This record gives sequence, structure tokens and C-alpha cells, in this order.
Amino acid sequence: MNLSAIHLEQKVKTKTNMPMLIPYGRQSIDEDDIKAVVEVLRSDWLTTGPKVEEFEKVVAEYLEAACAVAVSSGTAGLHCAMHALGIGPGDEVIVPAMTFAASANCVIYTGAVPVFSDVDPETLLLDVNLAEKKITSKTKAIIGVDYAGQPCVWDDLHKIADKYNLALVADGCHALGAEYKGTKVGNLADMTVFSFHPVKHITTGEGGMIVTNKPELAEKMRIFRNHGITTDHRQREETGSWFYEMKFLGYNYRLSDFQCALGISQLNKLPYWISRRQKIAGRYNAAFAGSSSIRPLSVLKDVSHAYHLYIVRIDSRACVMDRTMLFHVLRSSGIGANVHYIPVHLHPFYKEHLGTHPGQCPVAEKAYEQIISLPIYPEMTDEEQDYVIDVMKGLMR
Ligand SMILES: *Cc1c(COP(=O)(O)O)cnc(C)c1O
Repeated sequence: MNLSAIHLEQKVKTKTNMPMLIPYGRQSIDEDDIKAVVEVLRSDWLTTGPKVEEFEKVVAEYLEAACAVAVSSGTAGLHCAMHALGIGPGDEVIVPAMTFAASANCVIYTGAVPVFSDVDPETLLLDVNLAEKKITSKTKAIIGVDYAGQPCVWDDLHKIADKYNLALVADGCHALGAEYKGTKVGNLADMTVFSFHPVKHITTGEGGMIVTNKPELAEKMRIFRNHGITTDHRQREETGSWFYEMKFLGYNYRLSDFQCALGISQLNKLPYWISRRQKIAGRYNAAFAGSSSIRPLSVLKDVSHAYHLYIVRIDSRACVMDRTMLFHVLRSSGIGANVHYIPVHLHPFYKEHLGTHPGQCPVAEKAYEQIISLPIYPEMTDEEQDYVIDVMKGLMR
């Protein structure tokens, strides 16, 4: 264990004041993080400077991937990935129904159509057999969401991607540090997108990163995040030239240097934080083992789960109330439970825009009625967790 891990463990053990609301997730920021950001604020480069490249390098190294492209959010990263694949009007992209809206919105941004596919009832990961049935001559790609921090069944996704010549994108926003058959998320699809929102594994405030082993895709995304302009401000400064060309329509999806400095500092602590998340999940699993009313989602063998979320299903016959009531009781007991997610095809925008409707993805819709996300974050204390467990168990028959 390195010094920062010991320091972090001390912090977890000695934190005894329970907050008013135990959140479902939250960031950990220490003095090293603050120092790293302040150093950049005192430097010449607030954005498009050396910290961007450094952050990309350390993330690529950690994930053992060839290229990483830093962007302003996970959502921007998904848009970059769609652009790099040349997705556009007339194309279809298969997306699981059980995910955050951004996984599908990125397809809409390009003028293409997200096709919602249902999930496996036990894991709530994309059901690959059902996804295959959604493939048409217009399908260009599949976005696999490593939901809650558990990798998709990537071997099966590769089989159908190869068979129909489709690109694979991983929405890995929940799964930084997760592994599938010993391979880290980041090397399991053509491109993998991560988010650095404060509830995710590491944070830059807002931020994201796309990781790929295909340099030509990385190059397209670097230009896309900078308006479609082929050189950036720093490159022009270094070559002493004012000339630049905008080759196609891009966006300003850049991540600032002080955010990248925070990301670099946060990444040092990621392995310890993942072990904390796994330990907390293990304690929940042990506490709920044998309960017929509180059932954690299944974990596949051959995966290392990164536990962005800890999700259980509630059997309303065994609970004294349904999931919605349970949610309100937990909230009023100071437990910041949450629901991840409302299936995307049930949102008004998709109903109006694509004509989606209830009944389209019955497994995701049924799960949505039953799931609840319980608090999990690296600095959660045993005391806080025991309180959550006691309240949950007290509400079951
Ligand atoms: C957080 C998240 C995103 C979006 O990331 P932002 O950085 O908030 O834009 C996309 N997909 C999933 C599954 C997420 O959880």
C-alpha cells in the first residue's frame, strides 16, 4: 500500500460525523488535489496547455491503451466518438434502454437514430441476442453501456459486430477501472468513453475522456473537440504561426489545464478508491444475502466490477411498501437513495421525436419499477453503511 492509500484509509476510519444526508455518491477531494489545481492557476496555461497532454498520457498508461483524448464531458466524448465513426443522417445505432439519456442523445446530435434494445433481467446489461435482432442495413454501431460499473458481455458483442461489420463504442462512464476477463474497460471496444462528473470514479468537476487503440479515430476526435481546426493554440504559439484551417464543423469540447491537473491527481488514488467501492459492495452483499426481498443485481464471472453504483431490486411483495414509497422513506431517513435509470425511451423527448412508447423494452421497464441505488462512495464509513443496511432491513417483512 502506498502512502496516499494509508492516508486515505485513515480518513475513512476517523470520519465519524454522519452528514445530514448520506448521498448515493460523492467526490473525494484532498489537499494534493487542491494544490495541483492551484499550481496550474499560477501558471501560463489555463487551457490547451501541458496538463491536457499529461492527463491523456497517464489515463492511457493506466488503461494500457494507445490513445486518450480529453474532452469537456462524458457526453462530449460520446458525441466525438459518433463523429469519428462518421455516424450521420440515415444511420442507426443500437443503444440499451437502461442507461442515462446521454448514451442515446449523442446519436441524435449527429442526425442518426438511436434504436433502443432491451437488457438482461439479471444484470440489466444490453441483451446481446435481442440487440442482434435490432440490426438492419442502416445499423452502423452498437453502444454498450457498462452499467453500474460492470462490463458488458464484450465477447458476444464482438461476435455480432464482426458478423455485421459494426463499430463498437463502450459508454464506460460507470466503469473506469473495471475489467472483463482480465482486460481493462478501455480496450474492449473501438472507443471507450469515460466521464469525470463528481459522482463518477474520479472527477475534474466536469470532464471526459475517449480511449482508443486506433490513432486515426483519436486524430479525428482531437480536431472535432477544437471546432474542426487542425492545430491548437499552443501548437501555433510554438511554431510561431497564425495560420490555421477549419476542415469541418466541430465544437469547443476542450478540457482546461486546471481540470486536467485535478484529474491527474485524482487518478493516483483510483486503485484504492475502487478497492473501497468493492469492499463496500461486499459488505452490502453479505448483509442482504439470503434476503428474498432485497436482491442485488447479478455479477458475471470473469469481471471485476468497479461499482460506480450499488443497485438492488426490491420485491414489493416482501417489502412493506413499493419501491417508490421506499425511496421516499429512505430520503426522509437521511439516505440519499436514487433510481438509475428511467428507461431512455420513456422520456417525453424520445416519445415525441422517435415515437417510442411503453412496452417497447419490457425488461428495462419492469426493472425500473423495482431498482434502487444505495449510497456507495470511497469515503463512506462502516457506520454510515450499517445505518443504511439497518434501515433497509427494517422495512422488509
Ligand atoms: C455520467 C454519464 C454520462 C455523461 O457524462 P457527463 O460527463 O455527465 O456528460 C454518459 N453516460 C452514462 C452512462 C453516464 O453515467
